[in-house]
Order: sequence, then structure tokens, then C-alpha cells
Amino acid sequence: MQNHKAGAAVILAVAVDTPLRRLFDYLASDDVAPAIAPGCRVWVPFGRRRAVGVVVELRERSELPVSKLRRIHGVIDHDPIFQLSFLELLRWSADYYRHPVGEVIAAAMPVALRRGAALAVEEISWRLTPGSHERALAELPVRARQLRAAIERLATVPDASPQALQEWAISNATLRKLRERGFVERFSRPAASGAPALTATREGPQLNEAQAAAVSSISGSLGTFATWLLYGVTGSGKTEVYLRAIAASLERGDQALVLVPEIALTPQLIGRFRERFDTELAVLHSGLSDGERLAAWRNARNGTARVVIGTRSAVFVPLARPGVIIIDEENDGSFKQQDGFRYSARDLGIVRAQRHGIPVVLGSATPSLESLARAQRQPGSLLSLPHRAADARPPTLSLVDLRRHADAQGIATPVLLAVRRHLDAGQQVLLFLNRRGYAPVLFCPGCGWAAHCRRCDAHLTVHRNSTDLLCHHCGAQQAAVTVCPNCASPVKPVGQGTERIEETLERLFPQTRLARIDRDSMRRKGELEAVLAEVDRNEIRILVGTQMLTKGHHFPNVTLVVVLNADQGLFSTDFRASERLAQTIVQVAGRAGRAELPGEVLIQTEYPTHPLLTRLLSGGYEAFAEGALREREQAGWPPYARLALLRAEATHPGEPLKFLHAALSAAHEHAVRGVKLLGPAPAPMERRAGRHRAQLLLHAATHGPLQKLMSVWIPQLEILPEARRVRWSIDVDPAELF
Ligand SMILES: [Zn+2]
Ligand SMILES: [Zn+2]
Repeated sequence: MQNHKAGAAVILAVAVDTPLRRLFDYLASDDVAPAIAPGCRVWVPFGRRRAVGVVVELRERSELPVSKLRRIHGVIDHDPIFQLSFLELLRWSADYYRHPVGEVIAAAMPVALRRGAALAVEEISWRLTPGSHERALAELPVRARQLRAAIERLATVPDASPQALQEWAISNATLRKLRERGFVERFSRPAASGAPALTATREGPQLNEAQAAAVSSISGSLGTFATWLLYGVTGSGKTEVYLRAIAASLERGDQALVLVPEIALTPQLIGRFRERFDTELAVLHSGLSDGERLAAWRNARNGTARVVIGTRSAVFVPLARPGVIIIDEENDGSFKQQDGFRYSARDLGIVRAQRHGIPVVLGSATPSLESLARAQRQPGSLLSLPHRAADARPPTLSLVDLRRHADAQGIATPVLLAVRRHLDAGQQVLLFLNRRGYAPVLFCPGCGWAAHCRRCDAHLTVHRNSTDLLCHHCGAQQAAVTVCPNCASPVKPVGQGTERIEETLERLFPQTRLARIDRDSMRRKGELEAVLAEVDRNEIRILVGTQMLTKGHHFPNVTLVVVLNADQGLFSTDFRASERLAQTIVQVAGRAGRAELPGEVLIQTEYPTHPLLTRLLSGGYEAFAEGALREREQAGWPPYARLALLRAEATHPGEPLKFLHAALSAAHEHAVRGVKLLGPAPAPMERRAGRHRAQLLLHAATHGPLQKLMSVWIPQLEILPEARRVRWSIDVDPAELF
């Protein structure tokens, strides 16, 4: 809080959730001004509406005359919801990613707070009525399993919070039935006050030497900033290292923040944390209701939740006593937001750790080239876990030359023989193809016609049990045809998707149960878990699937992994495509032979001499990464350079390029040394969902010149006349170049 002269106007610089890249000045009347500090929310008049704003600064004067400033309508928080240092981190992020500060600060708040809900609210909890435990078990019929289970659960705690009820899957209907019979009652209590919950850590398994060394390095750095790269092959026990580092942080009375990829936030993972730590966890994922999200956020902020686990956006959850940040599968694409505020949760996690003065652990079996380059610059920061646990042997990788072998709908003969061999031995096989649907193209052999999406520069995908063709880029559907609309010849599906592979294998192995795992087959909640349980029981023997199969799941009885098409990533215009391909191959390979059974990995390709594949085969991911880093350095690409991408799109074909040319001229006026401008050029897929797209790439050796240019250039873009006819965005450190 700042002192101000009695009677003098207090000016508040307020962040409002709007695409305008600035703060807004308001006046606070003398009676409320002393209670306002940066980080408090206020109600402000904004245009014709009333909006929630966050006070960012108290100012002595405004650029506008005081008579033009509007007064705030009211104060929402009497204590700031964000600490000053956290507010500064958010402002830094807005500045770094050149995104409107109001939207950045809004993104860091649960929806309920964005709408003006009070932070400290009463929480409705449930508890057993006195003496009802035995009574309920005596009176409830044995077949009323859910009711009895709920009673047993509730008997273990004095009262159960909404979060606990959710974790135990006790529904409102169950509670209502129990209340009708007088077994339970609801009551409200003030939401958690911030007293840290009691914590007990259960003992974990014995560590091997590499794990012990990693744990000791990380634990020894608690209380100071350090970036650790935990590089461990699949099955080497990275999670155990995380758990020990977290335990060490909890022992100091601090919290831990764990970021995981979207696909990895599974009940199994949460279970593993719950098994180890007898303490309050806050789990943030997209399935939470607004109220649940607010409760988790609040518990993290006030320190009640000692361990906070979440996906990308959890990097913005405030912590009362930050102790350590863990970023699992740091190379995963889901850490980068691909629209709106295009931040990288991995990179911001590092910045955040630096600002808090705490260590951050980046874990991966296939680290990003950025993280490997950082580890090379910081000797001693690389922690390697080179061995698989319980003497599981690493799988053997080999290539299958698609040009030399006959194939049955995309599966080469040597692969089919291997599938047969592994099935005969009583084991399981996994076939990976990163393309869902039946076939990627519907083609006319008569005249060369192919079915295209009307709204995208893309083919429509054929699906097995659908009369419609589907566009995988915009979701458009079109009725499938059996004859060519040009020449009336019969058309045929060309190429393979997971559905066609499934069909072929069903035909060739009719006695063997098979499951396809992709976004189409696993739509319903719980479906994936059910299939995985059948795989566990060895009832399902063949697995066909996409990326969904490559992460997080353990298939101890899978001994053969087939990568059906390695060639999609070999010749892409995107310089990161080969890195993603290598990571995917290593991740899929990691599913094989996890237990005592040795694994075999077959990779189908038409380019068996491609250096990416040969390096990967001879020296593993490390050899690939070494070569790729050398190439990036020679070509001047990240991590040896910094990029920003200005994208534009419009329904009218010429507009994006017109805007980008105007933007280019504006950039030339500033002539910042060291920044190269490449383009503008149409996007690789020029038209998508009916919009034409183009881009302009900014390239510099370091971030400084880029930032210098963008700080003067982007405000100018906002007022270009050409900007009114396009939708444009800036992407700093883009993950994909289209
Ligand atoms: Zn035709
Ligand atoms: Zn489309």
C-alpha cells in the first residue's frame, strides 16, 4: 500500500481482460483507496460494460487528464490475490510473448475469479452424523454397494471436502440418499485457512546409483535456482526421482509444483502421488468444474495443498511457499499453447523457478534439443538415468525397407512374420501409425481426381464405418462417393490409416483379439482404461494406435513394436519435424520389453539410408540429438537462434499477404540490427477452414534484438489500415512453423 496525500486522487493502473495491449487508468475515491494494493481485483466501468480488473500499479499521475478518468465501481479483494512478485512474472510473460497483459493476467485466474467471485468462500463439506457408521452398515442392504462404500470412506475422515468427495467418486445422488436416511449431514466451514496440512511421506523403493546421485543433486539445490535436466530412458525410474525431490521440498515446509503433459494426467499418476504422500494435493485439469478449479487454486495459493499437479496452465497457479518445480516429459508439445496467449509452460516454469530462487527439474526420455543445448552450456546440470530398472534389456531396433518387400495394405511381409512369431510365443504386439481414419485419400484411377475439402487445401479422410468423408483440419463432412464426379470411374481409398491397419490385421489374424486406440475409438470417458485393463489381462493381443499409445502406458507383455510409417517426418518443411519424429520413435520403442522379456522394434521406411534413421539406430536418441544439434547450429536455427512468427489469416485471399507486406515495410523503418525478416509467404497449408493464411518469420541470433524490434513494431501493427481486414497474431519461440 502506498501513502498518498489526503485529498489527492489515487490513480490505479488496471489490467482488464481485453485484446488491447495496455493498462487502463482509473480513479479510486479516498475512502477505498487505502485498502487497494497491486494484485487486488476491482470492478471497473469498461466501455458500456462493467468488468473485473486487476490493479497492477498505483500511480501518481496519468497520461490522461484526471478529469477524463473514470472511477472504479468497487473493490473485490481486500487482500491481493497475486503477490507482487507473481504479478511481475505475469507482466514479464505478457511482455516476452507480446501478448495483451489483461489477457495474460486473466489466463492466470480461475474462471470464477475472472467473473468476480470472492476468493475466500465457504465450502460445503459432508460428514457422518454421530453414531451412524455402524447403524448405516447394519441397515443398508449389502447390494447397495455405492452407499456402503461412501459410508466407509466418510468414516475415515472427520469431514469430507468437495474435492475429497470427487476423488472418492461419491456423487450428489449418493449423498442425497444417505442424508434422507439421516446417515450424513452437510455443513459449511470457512474454506481452508492456509494452515499447511500435515504431511507424511511413505518410504519408496531402493534407489539405484544413478537415481541416488540425481536425488542428491536436486535436493542439494533446494533454496537456490538451478535447472536440472533429468535424462532417463523409459523405465529408468524418473518418477521415483521426482517423488524424492518433492519429499525433500516438503520436509523444508515448501510446496512442489508438478507439470505434466495433457495426456499423462491419469488416475494412475495421481494414485502414485497419493500413495507416497499423505498430504493435501491440488490437481488441476480440464475436467474440473469452476468451483473445483477455484478450490484447488485457492489451496495452492494459501499453502494448504502441498503438492500441486497440473497440465500447462498450472504454471500460473500461485504458491504460498514454492520449493521445487518438476516438468515431466518436458519435450511434449502440449506445454506450448497454440492459440491466443502462445506461451510455453516449460520455458515459463524455468523463468518462474529463477524468480522464486528454487530448482526446476526437466525430465524426459527424449529431451528437447533446447534443453540438451542448455545442459551443454551449464556443465553439471545433466542428470542421467542410463539404466532400465530390474535389468530389463533395451529393445533392438531395425529398419524394414518398404521398397524391397511386398506388403499387405501397408504392412510389409517381414513385419507380418514377426507379428505371427510374437503372437505364437504368447506375447503382445503394438503397431503405431500417426494417422487415424481408414485412408487419407479417396482417389480416382481413371482421371486422377481426389476428394478435397471445400474449405482447406487438404484431402478428405475416408472413415471405415461412415458414409461421410471427413476433413481432419476443419472437421467438415462431405458425403462419400463411389464413382468419380468427373469421369464416373469407380474411386478407391489410397494409403493407410489406423482403421485400415485394423481391418487388415483382423483379416490376417482372425483368432486374435485386437484393439484400436485413437481419438475416434476412445471417445467415451473410461473407454481407454477399460481397453488397457484387457491388455493387462492379455485378452487383447494386438494394439493398433496413434500417438495416444506412445505415452504413459506400460505394456509389460508387449515384445514387438512396429512403427508403420517413419517417413512422414523425414522431409518436412518444419525444421522441428525430425526432432518430433525421433522422439516419437523412441517413445513408441520404449513401450516394448519393459519387463524381463526383450523387445523388438521394427521401423518401416522407404528411406533406410536417411541419416536421421541410421543415427537413431546406431547410437540411439543421443546420437540423433548430437547430429541434429550440429545441423541446427550450422543452419542457424533454434536453439542457436531465436524466432518469432507473425501469422495472418483472412477469408479474402489477398489480404494476409497485403498486411504482412505492410508489416514488413514497418519493420524496415526500425531497422533493428541483427533481425532478419523472412517472407512473407503463404502458410504451407495456405487455406484452412475457409481462411487464407500467410506468415512472416523474424530471426535473430539472440532474443534481445527481436524484443527490441517487437516492442516498437507491434504497437504499430495494431494501427495499420491493412490490419483491419485480417486476424493476426505473434508467436514468440514458435513450436511449429505454420
Ligand atoms: Zn475420375
Ligand atoms: Zn477442411
